Amino acid sequence: MAKLTPEVEQYTQQLREKLQEAGYAYYVLDNPVMEDAVYDRLLRELQELETQYPQLIVPDSPTQRVGEKPATKFVSVKHNIPLYSLENAFNIQELKSWQERCQIQNSKFKIQNSDLSQSQKLEVKNQNSDLNNDSHSDEINLATLDYVCELKIDGSALALTYENGLLVRGATRGDGIMGEDITQNVKTINSIPLKLKIDNPPPKVEVRGEAFLSINVFENINAQREKIGETLFANPRNAAAGTLRQLDSKIVAQRRLDFFAYTLYLEENTSEFSQLSTQWEYLQLLQKLGFKVNPNRQLCSSLDELEAYYQYWDKKRQNLPYLTDGVVVKINSLPLQKKLGFTQKFPRWAIALKYPAEEIPTIVQAVTVQVGRTGALTPVAELKPVQLAGTTVQRASLHNSDRLAELDLHIGDTVIVRKAGEIIPEVVRVLPELRPKIALRFQMPTHCPECSQPVIKPRDEAVTRCINTSCPAILRGSLAHWASRGALDINGLGEKLVQQLVNSCLVKSVADLYNLTVEDLTTLERMGKKSASKLVEAIATSKVQPWKRVLYGLGIRHVGSVNAELLVQKFPTVAKLGQAKVSDIEAVYGIGPEIAQSVEQWFRVPANQNLVERLETVGVTLESKGSTSNLVEEQDGLLVGKTFVLTGTLPTLKRDEAKNLIQNSGGKVTSSVSSKTDFVVVGEDAGSKLEKAEKLGVKQLSEAELLEMLEVRS
Ligand code: NAD
Repeated sequence: MAKLTPEVEQYTQQLREKLQEAGYAYYVLDNPVMEDAVYDRLLRELQELETQYPQLIVPDSPTQRVGEKPATKFVSVKHNIPLYSLENAFNIQELKSWQERCQIQNSKFKIQNSDLSQSQKLEVKNQNSDLNNDSHSDEINLATLDYVCELKIDGSALALTYENGLLVRGATRGDGIMGEDITQNVKTINSIPLKLKIDNPPPKVEVRGEAFLSINVFENINAQREKIGETLFANPRNAAAGTLRQLDSKIVAQRRLDFFAYTLYLEENTSEFSQLSTQWEYLQLLQKLGFKVNPNRQLCSSLDELEAYYQYWDKKRQNLPYLTDGVVVKINSLPLQKKLGFTQKFPRWAIALKYPAEEIPTIVQAVTVQVGRTGALTPVAELKPVQLAGTTVQRASLHNSDRLAELDLHIGDTVIVRKAGEIIPEVVRVLPELRPKIALRFQMPTHCPECSQPVIKPRDEAVTRCINTSCPAILRGSLAHWASRGALDINGLGEKLVQQLVNSCLVKSVADLYNLTVEDLTTLERMGKKSASKLVEAIATSKVQPWKRVLYGLGIRHVGSVNAELLVQKFPTVAKLGQAKVSDIEAVYGIGPEIAQSVEQWFRVPANQNLVERLETVGVTLESKGSTSNLVEEQDGLLVGKTFVLTGTLPTLKRDEAKNLIQNSGGKVTSSVSSKTDFVVVGEDAGSKLEKAEKLGVKQLSEAELLEMLEVRS
């Protein structure tokens, strides 16, 4: 057993308290204080800690309970069969593990079978014929079992008791053992039959399902509440739960709750229904009895099919009129369900596969500071690895000193991370309640971590900067940028080599690259004569790259490839641009005052003037050849050879603007998707083009990703 330290004990206690507080706010007050995904992850963390240190388990731990004890507003009622929650899986791998666990349970059952008498075996064999399509086998192979996939409706569970066909009780889930009797309120839900639609109803049946509010109704309720100054419901689920527990049934009736039934329990052998042997048949029966059953269900028999259903609804769920936060996978065979049974909290035969969260919590293990090519110091949180939207996240940007101060980040803090624009993870906020007692606040360094020179933080800027022009980090960044594909495109000059060149002092400025010889390069570790010659040649070839690429390569702040393109159209030579006033530069269409100032300032710095002179001496292209029109003819840019299709409404760019940006960078924009399309840029309400792109497996880009590609936001 792992050694329990006071820190772990303290953290576990904090975690438990935080979850208890969140659970109360959520289940009792219907007013959540954190996102569901954050709650789920923290709960999982507590579970893991309790598994590792079982001595930390206490009876009221949130891991030991289903929901909350019923509030005192209504009469408490005991569920005949506990109303369980569902185990969560957060990815397909976890779904697979669940399948394997079922398999183990199942094989235990088979071992027990082998101890049975001949007549007992025969009985089991007959039962097992329901478990599998292969009626001749008593070997249950889960790989060939059927599963029913249902949408996980984000509402509130109800248990409805019908006696001789009449609704006699409606109860909330409560803590799974005791619920609240809300029969009067349940009777206001139109999709719940007061009387079952069959002639010979069983004496007693319990129907379970989810009461929910459609998104439309939820929005109307909140709009009404806003008008009369009442606090708004956080989401449809809490609004549904809150509504069900309203003391005034008239208000409940106005709120137009809806209900999907998903299972039923019969008193054994009391009716013909007890002959049914699958969940699928149960859903059909519920429909016959007069319940609304979600039509978006599917019978699957392999993990691939389950995954396809899950992926399909992940894309389509936005179009549904109600919220769903995942899919529920259930073993179809009722006899097998019965055999697998329940843990203390969950059925073993069902699992909720949740949709990936956009925000999740994790722990900051350290903070490192990176120095970029502009000298900006970026604090980066080194995280306990977590899965976020399909990738493992280990680092997240903390942006700058202002943001850091705003977050009041301490090493060891639990933070919420999010994928900004689905690309770069960032820290959204800190959960100070989970802060370890000994945690230290992170302070931005006063000296550059690379060159040890003092850093500055201009009052009007959020960024702390190293202003030492010979800082190796700035030099490395400048060289890498100069050699990059959109700039001088020097083949073979990658990050590693840049580092070697800087460390060995062979290169102190980009101009030095053009004086490198094969002999110089072969002094570097693992650099043979052949590679050295190739590199010297690639550097020499880069001299003919057009002026706009060179301008971009200079790395002037705010001058990405698009701005460089705009600038060279007005200033076809470096001399002209170098002499231009801010007002001249600002006059260029698309260039704002900040960019203009940055360009003008750059050319005023003596070291930069010296660099331009040296580049001129070595023969780097610093002017456009011929007329400005040749810029188009040159047909180069970041996107040369790439074909794009635009679909839907982009968040900030108009269709024409996006098209121009792509074309200005050498890309082609076509109107329909084919196998030749490289990228589909997807906005809101994307239509059939997106569907076609999905079918053909064409890579999709958001506007942010497109701009990132074009380096517009550099
Ligand atoms: P759950 O909602 O994740 O899953 C179980 C429930 O799913 C069942 O009780 C059932 O009512 C429902 N369900 C919907 N469709 C179903 C279907 N087709 N078949 C079977 N069941 C279906 O689990 P839970 O225990 O009710 O609550 C945990 C949830 O509450 C988590 O999502 C958690 O994030 C959230 N929560 C959030 C906070 C917070 O602070 N935000 C606090 C506590 C709990």
